[in-house]
Amino acid sequence: MIHQVCKLPVANQLLSDIMALQIAILEAAAQVQILDMVLDPAVFTPILQAHLETKRRFRGRSDAIARWIMTSNRGVRNSLVEPLNAFANASQVEKAQFVADIQRDIMLLYRPKASTFKVTVLENEPLGWRKSARNFLYEFYDLWQTGFPGYIFSASNEKYSRQDFIREFEKLNPGLFICAVCDGSAYITKAVKHIYTSVDHFFPRSIYPHLSCHPLNLVPICSSCNSYIKGDNNPLLLNGQHFQLIDFILPYQRLEIAFSKKAYIAVVKRPPGRNKLQHPMQLELKPARDFQAGNKIIAFENLYRVDERWSESLDEIEDHAFRRITQFLTLIDPVNLTTDPAALIRYLKALMSQTDLENIGKDPYAFPMVWLFKSYIDQIEAQKENAPVFIALKHWASFNCRRWEVLEAHSLEIERRLPDA
Ligand SMILES: [Zn+2]
Repeated sequence: MIHQVCKLPVANQLLSDIMALQIAILEAAAQVQILDMVLDPAVFTPILQAHLETKRRFRGRSDAIARWIMTSNRGVRNSLVEPLNAFANASQVEKAQFVADIQRDIMLLYRPKASTFKVTVLENEPLGWRKSARNFLYEFYDLWQTGFPGYIFSASNEKYSRQDFIREFEKLNPGLFICAVCDGSAYITKAVKHIYTSVDHFFPRSIYPHLSCHPLNLVPICSSCNSYIKGDNNPLLLNGQHFQLIDFILPYQRLEIAFSKKAYIAVVKRPPGRNKLQHPMQLELKPARDFQAGNKIIAFENLYRVDERWSESLDEIEDHAFRRITQFLTLIDPVNLTTDPAALIRYLKALMSQTDLENIGKDPYAFPMVWLFKSYIDQIEAQKENAPVFIALKHWASFNCRRWEVLEAHSLEIERRLPDA
């Protein structure tokens, strides 16, 4: 992640109940073996209820929960019972191992190590009991859209929906207005009663269905990152490369470990053979001096291709940066500053610091902009009056020496657009 995101205590608590419930249901289904028979709600409901009653966090509410599972209709069919039925038709030993592996994977995501998940379900796998378990978990996640009933939860009795999760994320990340992955665009749109966003499953639910409700696997990001770029790609096996959990800066990790704090961006020449429409320079994410990055940058770039996306938007990022410089200079002394490289460097350093302290996570591309400013500073330090950015700013200042008067006149023009009071 480029930006740090804060953990969500309510989601952590409520979704841990949901994962425990999913496991308990699979455990109950793993105990029964009704070969080639339709799982009869009249038979399975009491089995499920009795099993839930053995779990402390569901005790006393097992009846309501079991009935909800067995009657959770979406459309004409019961979305949970059908796949559960198919899951029941497998050997008890295999199913018990599967459920144990799921539990291990869930714990692993709470404490990531140099390993990978045990359970993966592949799209092209034949429809067997494993795929049925996937479909059960998949359908379960979809029920979150309208909300899980309050009686599921051990520490709340209010309905809990995906929208509640998004609201908690927004509330606990108050300074984050920009997608935590790409730094390029807003990640939410608000209407009167709804916040629209893409909730990314960092480990896709199509491959890791048992992590579909894991609170540390769910993060609201922009839809370009989620749908167009990442899609269902498997972070742990991508472009022929295998990765482990510790190869990532996972969402909600401890403070101060996002790339905006632990990496810098190098502005370098594109290798020969670029398309003529492409910018001659490109941006590359690199580990900061004190950061033991391991595979973290490679794994992140493999998944979200942020370097490439920033480089393709470099004209736009430069435009943002240049306007920030000229707006800053307008308020100081544009003509004198653009005759003195040393003075200009001092102001560019102030602007670089201010952008790093105040704009990151709030304005699009603030992170690459900090490092564009740094590249301009280096350029002026090396080439003084001959630095292209110095020449461009001098040119700008000579045409805008009466900038204040122009802006004052324009402010009157803006105010004139309002109707008379
Ligand atoms: Zn994004």
